[in-house]
Amino acid sequence: MTNDAILKKVKADFDLSTNALREMVGAFHDEMRLGLESQVSSLKMLPTFVDRASGDERGRFLALDLGGTNFRVLQVQLGSGGQVKVEHVGKYIIPRAVMRGTGEQLFNFIAQSIDTFLVDSRIGYDEKRDLGFTFSFPMKQTDIVNGILINWTKDFSASGVVGKNVTKLLIAALKRQGIDSVEIAALANDTVGTMVARSYQDQDCDVGIIFGTGTNACYREPSTETIVNIEWGNFNKLPLNRYDVKHDKASGNPGKQVMEKMISGMYLGGLVQLVLSDLIQTRLMFKNRRAKFSKGVFTTTRMSQVESDTSRKLTKVEDYLDSIGIIDSALAERALLQRICELVSRRAMRISAAAMSAVVTWMDPELKDNHTVAIDGTLYERYPGFKKTILATLTQLHGKDAGKIKLVHTKDGSGIGVAVVAAVAAHA
Ligand code: ADP
Ligand code: MG
Repeated sequence: MTNDAILKKVKADFDLSTNALREMVGAFHDEMRLGLESQVSSLKMLPTFVDRASGDERGRFLALDLGGTNFRVLQVQLGSGGQVKVEHVGKYIIPRAVMRGTGEQLFNFIAQSIDTFLVDSRIGYDEKRDLGFTFSFPMKQTDIVNGILINWTKDFSASGVVGKNVTKLLIAALKRQGIDSVEIAALANDTVGTMVARSYQDQDCDVGIIFGTGTNACYREPSTETIVNIEWGNFNKLPLNRYDVKHDKASGNPGKQVMEKMISGMYLGGLVQLVLSDLIQTRLMFKNRRAKFSKGVFTTTRMSQVESDTSRKLTKVEDYLDSIGIIDSALAERALLQRICELVSRRAMRISAAAMSAVVTWMDPELKDNHTVAIDGTLYERYPGFKKTILATLTQLHGKDAGKIKLVHTKDGSGIGVAVVAAVAAHA
């Protein structure tokens, strides 16, 4: 088989026509409707209890951003005229063992990190601080402060947390750590934080999206004028190819987070790895070499680096292949690897665009108004062509009306926004 023929085969698996995307938008609307009516749906459509910020909020607030890879603590100062200043940031890496240990270990780790942050930033324990807790997992909120974890996603599986009020668990851990100067004023999803961070200064912002370890979105629901956390990673009305099926089966949560597994940073590399393993096994790629891509070695970050190599001879790709023992690769093989990454990432971006289109047209079917979509997450920030491909796909779906949809990278929005939410909740 020639490289072109191989590529054609992979392309057939990962191509998604614009018509297929249109169908996806329709199915997404159906699932949104069912979710809002509390009927069976892959979209949970969770209420968030977050009020609009006035822009007059003042003071210093802490934010705790528990994402998937990094865990961060921030101190944010809200000043006059909607000004936001991040004064201190502490970044902590949650060890895998802690993500997958007991809930007590996880929350102890969080409380210890807050302690470290208070010391390192010299904030100390004398001044009281209201804290916004960004918790990026599906939760059933009962008010702005309390929420019950519905299920873990991404790499988390800490025991004894599902079904519990995560705010209470955090309060208990802070108490064990001896911290009594910090009060939890608000709990919110990272999508909500991102949307609030932008809407604080942009009236047109009515969608918040995360493309990071996982993916999710929230939007302003017109019928209730509240912010709804879609939990869109779990959307499951998409055509799956054999790699998707295999990938899902091998995951920690088979049958769940189906769209997330086709889009987000935790998963894309694994999908490419399955394609590569298949091609190597059938001796279509890297033949005559003892090449092996075992589970977990090909990451999304690696894909991103492979696609970023614009050198004529793909020397960065060559160095990488050398480093894993595939020496003397041919340029055509390196180009093939790059194209395979492109096919998988392009599909991710096109699905992302269709999901975005579904959310915006749910609010505004004829795209009469302007909509700012606030987006946070390292995948969106760093993956080559992410924004460009989304915009091109939106244009395929909506023609010139796509211009009504503005994508704004809201860096650190998930943390900053929840500090604002905390300020609103604390009536600052
Ligand atoms: P979180 O989702 O935990 O809040 P991030 O938004 O930082 O964290 O996203 C982390 C994800 O970003 C990782 O899973 C990784 O796959 C992806 N990522 C990291 N570096 C890059 C990169 N250079 N290019 C593309 N994706 C990246
Ligand atoms: Mg995040």
